[in-house]
Amino acid sequence: MTITSSSQTTRPTAIVIGGGVIGGAAAYDLSKAGFDVTVLDKGAFGQEASTAAAGMLGAQVETHHSGPFYELCRHSQQLYRAWTDELEQISGISAQYISEGILRAALTDEDEQELRSRLPWIQDAEWLDAAAMRRMEPELSPDIRGGLYLPADHQVHPVWLAKALQAALVKQGCRIREWTPAFRLLTGPGAGTAGRRIIGVQTSEGPLYADLTVLAAGAWSPALTEPLGLTLPMFPVKGQCISVKTAAPLIRSTVFTKGCYIVPKQDGSYIVGATQVEVGFDKHVHVQTIADLHEKAAALLPRMAEAEFVHTWAGLRPGTQDGLPFLGTLDTALGLIWATGHYRNGILLAPVTGALVKQLALGEQPLLNLNAYAPSRALKQTANATL
Ligand SMILES: Cc1cc2nc3c(=O)[nH]c(=O)nc-3n(C[C@H](O)[C@H](O)[C@H](O)COP(=O)(O)OP(=O)(O)OC[C@H]3O[C@@H](n4cnc5c(N)ncnc54)[C@H](O)[C@@H]3O)c2cc1C
Repeated sequence: MTITSSSQTTRPTAIVIGGGVIGGAAAYDLSKAGFDVTVLDKGAFGQEASTAAAGMLGAQVETHHSGPFYELCRHSQQLYRAWTDELEQISGISAQYISEGILRAALTDEDEQELRSRLPWIQDAEWLDAAAMRRMEPELSPDIRGGLYLPADHQVHPVWLAKALQAALVKQGCRIREWTPAFRLLTGPGAGTAGRRIIGVQTSEGPLYADLTVLAAGAWSPALTEPLGLTLPMFPVKGQCISVKTAAPLIRSTVFTKGCYIVPKQDGSYIVGATQVEVGFDKHVHVQTIADLHEKAAALLPRMAEAEFVHTWAGLRPGTQDGLPFLGTLDTALGLIWATGHYRNGILLAPVTGALVKQLALGEQPLLNLNAYAPSRALKQTANATL
């Protein structure tokens, strides 16, 4: 077996486990902060949840109450434009940022009430009655009852974002090792009275050591913490989507109702999504599910019935029990930064996660209070660690 290590360097070294948008964003900020970064992925860069997504930057549409998570989402939303501009400058690839907002339409009384209940705390939102909504998007169904106009909820194309991120990382000098799974975290003693320290990763090509390791393995993250006796309560949440196109554009904004959204892309296609089921690591796409999704899309935008089918796929959101990500460190596993569990919002949360990982790595005060995301809040720590 080949023994590998980070390159001979005087810079601090970092391994990022997971080449999704979260690992990519963390690697990008670490590299800008002077770290010599290696990204490991069990497959190709950006081929899991990060390119299965619809690309909505939906701080408003995705949050149902005020609190720290809403602030985290808002913060990332505010960083987004500059982040994608910077990635484009370095990589020459556009993430296809679109600054039209989202129309969150209600089709039922219950949904209308839920949306109205957000008005006291939600920012950048306006209630539109049905007529006003249809003036903005005339193809919307006459059955809509009005809803929220969310002008700050922009979008990107996740596939192009992943390409831009990957190319920017390479230009910054990061090593991206595709098809190189991390099998387990390597441990050594912590300093003084502190617990053990993570000193690197056992990979399919041998051990790889670094000053810092970032856990950004999406829905697969628990497999890496379990041998340490740390049971991470995360699970894959499958989402199926369809892409369609029409002869002429139907909408400019993203339109979204309960259980279905339609996101218009720069190339004239629309992403219609997404289902949400917990069925393990299954990524099969089912005809009936896609037919149901298309029916919901046509209920919102009737001319979707005429659309031409382009493509279908499924992805696995990294779900957590409380819906919040794990962002932070743990005294019993020093040298490891947790950046996982971004569930439905990892595209949106990528820039703020990158910035927070960098601050944790440098020992700086994080720009936001991370208590709500502490890994310790939900971890079961057992004594039967195999390491
Ligand atoms: C259908 C759907 C629609 C979505 N829409 C949106 C949206 O509109 N807006 C939004 O903000 N979010 C959306 N999301 C959520 C978003 O896609 C995720 O939150 C985000 O992609 C998570 O990124 P990640 O990097 O943590 O995970 P992933 O993209 O899954 O990346 C994890 C990576 O780790 C790698 N890996 C795993 N185990 C190992 C190992 N042992 N060794 C090495 N590599 C490993 C995997 O191969 C993978 O590439 C959507 C998700 C889905 C499925």
